[in-house]
Amino acid sequence: MQPPFRIGLGYDIHALVAGRPCILGGVKIDSPVGPEGHSDADVILHAVADAILGASGLPDIGQLFPNTDPALKNMNSARIVERAVQEAAAKGWAIGNLDIVVLAEKPKMAPHVPAIRKNLSALLRVTGDQIGVKATTQEGMDAVGEGRAIACHAVVLLIKA
Ligand code: MG
Repeated sequence: MQPPFRIGLGYDIHALVAGRPCILGGVKIDSPVGPEGHSDADVILHAVADAILGASGLPDIGQLFPNTDPALKNMNSARIVERAVQEAAAKGWAIGNLDIVVLAEKPKMAPHVPAIRKNLSALLRVTGDQIGVKATTQEGMDAVGEGRAIACHAVVLLIKA
């Protein structure tokens, strides 16, 4: 017998480069640097999607959305999360809660946390109190700490719908 809940973990990291749009958690942020990648490179939404897919026992986003597919160039990563939610729902799972930690030296995340939380709750069709968004720096250490990359950890609990 399987328990009526599942936990999932997601992680993603992207390089930060000058001149790229900076879209994090689906929120457009005014920044001279943005995450580099094949899609819009939204590191938060990628980590969230992988947490949902992992909890559902489904393949990760690299398999569902190959970064070699020209049709996915610069794609809106909200589509990736919507697909993950749909696939989880098809297996009978609903979002219980989501908690994320964004690791970034820049852009400064704190001013954007409320908007990201609101956007994630809309995307996952849950209330704001089911979403936790935290941001921290790497205290100047490693690629994130040197402002050359941005990373995100996500954990999600799915409940039997
Ligand atoms: Mg990614």
